[in-house]
Amino acid sequence: MGKKALVTGVTGQDGAYLSRLLLEKGYEVHGLFRRSASADVIGARLRWLGIIDDINLQDGNLTDLASLIRIMRDVKPDEVYNLGAQSFVKSSWQQPLLTGQVTGIGVANVLEAVRLECPEARFYQASSSEMYGLIQEPQQNEKTPFYPRSPYAVAKLYGHWMTVNYRESFSLHASSGILFNHESPLRGIEFVTRKITDGVVRIKLGMQDKLALGNLDAKRDWGHARDYVEAMWLMLQQETPDDYVVATGQTVSVRDFCRLAFSHVGLNFEDHVTVDPRFMRPAEVDVLLGDPSKAKEKLGWTPKTTLDQLVAEMVEADLGRLSTQS
Ligand code: GDP
Repeated sequence: MGKKALVTGVTGQDGAYLSRLLLEKGYEVHGLFRRSASADVIGARLRWLGIIDDINLQDGNLTDLASLIRIMRDVKPDEVYNLGAQSFVKSSWQQPLLTGQVTGIGVANVLEAVRLECPEARFYQASSSEMYGLIQEPQQNEKTPFYPRSPYAVAKLYGHWMTVNYRESFSLHASSGILFNHESPLRGIEFVTRKITDGVVRIKLGMQDKLALGNLDAKRDWGHARDYVEAMWLMLQQETPDDYVVATGQTVSVRDFCRLAFSHVGLNFEDHVTVDPRFMRPAEVDVLLGDPSKAKEKLGWTPKTTLDQLVAEMVEADLGRLSTQS
């Protein structure tokens, strides 16, 4: 019999790519599905990948422990991937308590449900490079001290340490993947990479002329989400649970990302990009650069997609989407 996986955050970018990977590997995939009035658009990413009918959607919520216990009891998953979160850093200052409830306490809820109902299941926690925040070392690895700089990052840090603690306290097979920024055509429009590729295409098609951004000097280690979900799966195939940095080992500024995306359609970003203080943050993470050596050595994982390929794929996808609308 094939394995069963439960994915929280199944309707997000990573949830969609991970579900496709698991389906390809023969898993029965269950996804935690948060009811809302806009349920018809919530499944857009799963539809885009053509897998929405292959997933067993389970009605529940990360903040409702009873729903998680019921789902664990019904599904009895072999693997649980906790990808659900309030994941947009900027919103975490506007909704700090909700972010704490979902992104932080939500992890404890899933861990408790696993411990009570299916303690043999393997657990993956989606931790984040944002936990490094005000970086304490020029290149961050699993031993680099954390210094979170947003309510989001503080909540993720709680989830990370709860994962480590449940592994050490209850011998759960619980692993934490410290993923650096990972993008794709399925990235939400509020994140800077997708905002840029969408803006580039709108400008190219004459739908707008300017693109307003915040801090162009921020630097991130950007990889492709499709590559990163493979690392998640590999972590749960190991005999012993552990924590891993997943990154490319290269860092690029928002400005240089703009340069690449605009030049893909033959435009000069300086003619179109403006800086608007509305998109600045109360506290900024200036630069992130991951060291994926451990993932390479222990999981045999390396990123497959280059930054140029990522930018090209994202711009082309937005061209496809928007050309039909213009
Ligand atoms: P994050 O690393 O999870 O916060 O991912 P984002 O894609 O939201 O932001 C990455 C970096 O881009 C941050 O340092 C932002 O301050 C910077 N940035 C600059 N302009 C913008 C913008 O207009 N929108 C967003 N989301 N980020 C911006």
